[in-house]
Amino acid sequence: MPEVTYLRPENIQDAVQLYRTTPGCRLLAGGTDLMVMLHAGTLRPQPRAVLDVWSLRELKGVRRVGDALEIGAAESYTGIIRSADANRYVPALVAAARTIGAAQIQNRGTLGGNLANASPAGDTLPVLLAYDAVVVTDRRTIRIDNFFLGYRKTALQADELITAVRVPLDRDVVFRKVGTRAAQAISKIVMAVCRAPARVAVGSVAEVPMRAGGAERALAEGDVAGAVGAVAADIRPIDDVRSTADYRRAVTQNVLRELLDAFTRE
Ligand SMILES: Cc1cc2nc3c(=O)[nH]c(=O)nc-3n(C[C@H](O)[C@H](O)[C@H](O)COP(=O)(O)OP(=O)(O)OC[C@H]3O[C@@H](n4cnc5c(N)ncnc54)[C@H](O)[C@@H]3O)c2cc1C
Repeated sequence: MPEVTYLRPENIQDAVQLYRTTPGCRLLAGGTDLMVMLHAGTLRPQPRAVLDVWSLRELKGVRRVGDALEIGAAESYTGIIRSADANRYVPALVAAARTIGAAQIQNRGTLGGNLANASPAGDTLPVLLAYDAVVVTDRRTIRIDNFFLGYRKTALQADELITAVRVPLDRDVVFRKVGTRAAQAISKIVMAVCRAPARVAVGSVAEVPMRAGGAERALAEGDVAGAVGAVAADIRPIDDVRSTADYRRAVTQNVLRELLDAFTRE
């Protein structure tokens, strides 16, 4: 592994300053994605420095801010799972956090890391889409709809740091992940649905985590069968080592039907 300078700022102001002024610098939160890529030598360009934001107090915690729940970018999945406010207001995000890796990964993995890594299979990402979350950075807010620009490409600028994620308090969202196993598996498909406003968000079925527009339009009109029919055309799955495109289309429809049935049973 090539030599990399390790930087650990004391506070958010120093972190922002260092990130803007250190050439070839990469942020390090829990390291569960970054360290794997660093060791494998797959990061392009190879970083010359890493800036460790894991311990920054300003990026931790789950708190109510007005009519939203604000989750610090470097808050771990374990922190989210243990938060009474997260369980009360954003249970679908807690459900997604519980499916991520095993305990070691939940102790270190962060929401900011999941967002910035922008894997199409990132488990929290459809949930954040279904909640209409807002990504807060050191300089602006970005609606989650505008965050994923392409395969692992986000709206973040090269020296922009996510500080928090804001999720509205009043949404009823449900979540489901289909993997090879119930936990510790990369998703074959992952879905989150909000009944009102109608949101159908899906992961692992396109180059980005996406909202299914046709399904949402049908759902907004109360047409459950129409939504299930439309979602197969909305998504853009591929064949890969985990699944075929046809399998993903069929499973996406089944999962949407199940989640919508769960709403009608309530
Ligand atoms: C064994 C294993 C199992 C896993 N299982 C799952 C799973 O089931 N589901 C799933 O979704 N993921 C899974 N992952 C992937 C990973 O754990 C998650 O994506 C996690 O959320 C990454 O967070 P992190 O803090 O570790 O990110 P890091 O590895 O520290 O960083 C990831 C990327 O985000 C950037 N970054 C980090 N913080 C910020 C910030 N505040 N602002 C801007 N950029 C930032 C980094 O520069 C880097 O590019 C797994 C990983 C492993 C190793």
